[in-house]
Amino acid sequence: MNSDWFSTPLTSADKQVASLIEKERARQFQTLPMIASENYASRAVLEAQGSILTNKYAEGPLGKREYSGCGVVDRIELLAKERAKKLFGAEYANVEPYSGTQANQIVYFAALKPRDKILGMHQEDYGHLTHGNPESFSGAFYSSLPYRLSPKTEQIDFDAIARLARRRKPRMIIAGYSCYPRKVDFAKFREIADSVGAYLLCDIAHLCGLIAAGQHENPVPFADFATTTTHKMLRGPRGGLILSKAKFENAIERAVCPGVQGGALMHAVAAKAVAFREAASAQFKSHVRRVLHNAAVLAEELQRLGFKLFAGGTDTHMVVFKLKGSGVDFAAAQNLLEKAGITVNGMPLPFEPKGPGAVRIGSPALTTRGMGPREMRQVAGMIARVLNSAGKPAVLRRVKREVGELAGLFCLQ
Ligand code: PLP
Repeated sequence: MNSDWFSTPLTSADKQVASLIEKERARQFQTLPMIASENYASRAVLEAQGSILTNKYAEGPLGKREYSGCGVVDRIELLAKERAKKLFGAEYANVEPYSGTQANQIVYFAALKPRDKILGMHQEDYGHLTHGNPESFSGAFYSSLPYRLSPKTEQIDFDAIARLARRRKPRMIIAGYSCYPRKVDFAKFREIADSVGAYLLCDIAHLCGLIAAGQHENPVPFADFATTTTHKMLRGPRGGLILSKAKFENAIERAVCPGVQGGALMHAVAAKAVAFREAASAQFKSHVRRVLHNAAVLAEELQRLGFKLFAGGTDTHMVVFKLKGSGVDFAAAQNLLEKAGITVNGMPLPFEPKGPGAVRIGSPALTTRGMGPREMRQVAGMIARVLNSAGKPAVLRRVKREVGELAGLFCLQ
């Protein structure tokens, strides 16, 4: 039998896809990715994710699969689970969620009934879609009670959350966000949840790298559930992870399959195992300290250049700076910066839906590339020049050239 279809490399088998992948590789390394949720996975993670494990069906919980031939993949999943439990100090870990969104969906499916009340951050204050946004399953199937940031400090308003919880008695309280640059006092959320008999779900998708490295309070020992993505600061494959108390094991496993998913993505599970091992290393801990230092330098420099910081500053890997007075709104800012080779997220500010908004940037990917405080100051300067350029092509061209030069010095290859 002719086996060419099986053994031909991608560059010959499908030139179109191969060349687009090559273009994306060039884009990732010739530009400055400052999207706070993006990063670079290691070669080891990519090899595991691109492995023949993609061929294996493993549906149902570990050890009780619906399919035969799962001996090897079961050992891989066990490794991933044990590494995740150790990394976060969890009693139970489920490594099968296909994404952060599905990790949250699985937890809701395990712990709640349709229309139960969930209390999560309001979407305009950067609550994640899955925390009760009416356009997501979480707002459609559950009764969403959004809480808001303090308009004065732009930080979490625990008194208001406690009052709302006492009045409306939610079944679950959700803490953890996509665009909140300050530390989150998860213990205070535990107190509020206990005071009304609610479950506490901590969504640590953004903070998990800091938590794994001991640079942020770890809610896993006291939250009922914690969910995270594995592809942000953890530098793993795209995917989700659920950590919980042991007593929820059966409910979560039933919610994974048949509840929400089919067969586990064993190639992704293997890549998660590799990423958890990397995240337990001393090298990762010192990398995360550099991530934090770089974010602090970005924040300081942007302030020096005249930008005001959302929530008064940063304690994390993320900086959100306001565009008021710069002459551009968030959509134009995102667009101009992309033209100059710097990728960011722009969005409206809470309480000012019609104002120019803000830009969210993060230091993880550039820190992975090896950049330090000197480069952070340089990048903050480039951002300011682009935003103050009124879109002048000459300025954008000049900054793009500088971006290319800097990127070329830190290309990880
Ligand atoms: N939870 C939070 C706090 C997030 O920031 C994100 C993604 O940005 C998610 C959940 C969802 O993750 P995914 O994109 O893998 O579905």
